[in-house]
Amino acid sequence: MTKTAACNLILLGPPGAGKGTQARMLEEKFGLVQLSTGDLLRAAVAAGTEAGKQAKSVMEAGGLVSDEIVIAILRDRLAEPDCAAGVILDGFPRTPVQAAALDDLMGTIDSAINAAISLEVDDAAMVERVAGRYTCAGCGEGYHDSFKTPATAGACDKCGGTEFKRRADDNAETVSERLAAYHAQTAPLIAFYDDKGILQRVDAMGDIDVIATELGTIVQKIVA
Ligand code: AMP
Repeated sequence: MTKTAACNLILLGPPGAGKGTQARMLEEKFGLVQLSTGDLLRAAVAAGTEAGKQAKSVMEAGGLVSDEIVIAILRDRLAEPDCAAGVILDGFPRTPVQAAALDDLMGTIDSAINAAISLEVDDAAMVERVAGRYTCAGCGEGYHDSFKTPATAGACDKCGGTEFKRRADDNAETVSERLAAYHAQTAPLIAFYDDKGILQRVDAMGDIDVIATELGTIVQKIVA
């Protein structure tokens, strides 16, 4: 693992762009912490917290959970000590209100966002990408019905686990709603971060490892 100075990144992109996959690779390589508001919300739903109860039906429909709930969840997680080395925000901010709240939150911990990286993809390919994906229930390794199946059918390449899971919202109908929410509420943030001078665009339609190398080069320049 490379030793890093504090580095805070945002990964922007529609569902299926590869934010989670790339965030996990950057986490491993640079010792940053992946903060996925989707993961935090799914944990809240599973734990049956008040926030989770309110978020559940919105998530199932592919809409956006209220700014209030998401900002509160992110604020709590950012306050944990492991985030001090730097975070990769995956799925946050998703609205202008969240982007403004993030600036405030970063200010309160005397930190800042170093780069917002837009993973640029063709929408048309995203439904197939998302609807076919699943993960190992044990270690979280990602797979896909068409693009990446385990070397031995039914066993995880990484941990050997035999249980796999699919997200309830990874179906063609909900993905369309999630793409619509992305374009209506989140895509405008690309211009917001461009205006701040911290936007980087990366073509995310190609090979996962090639994209990872490109992202690694961006991060390396920040932490150097
Ligand atoms: P994700 O795992 O990022 O695809 O998020 C899954 C679902 O969680 C989304 O479709 C939303 O319903 C909800 N969600 C995750 N992050 C946010 C956010 N920053 N703002 C609002 N809703 C969110």
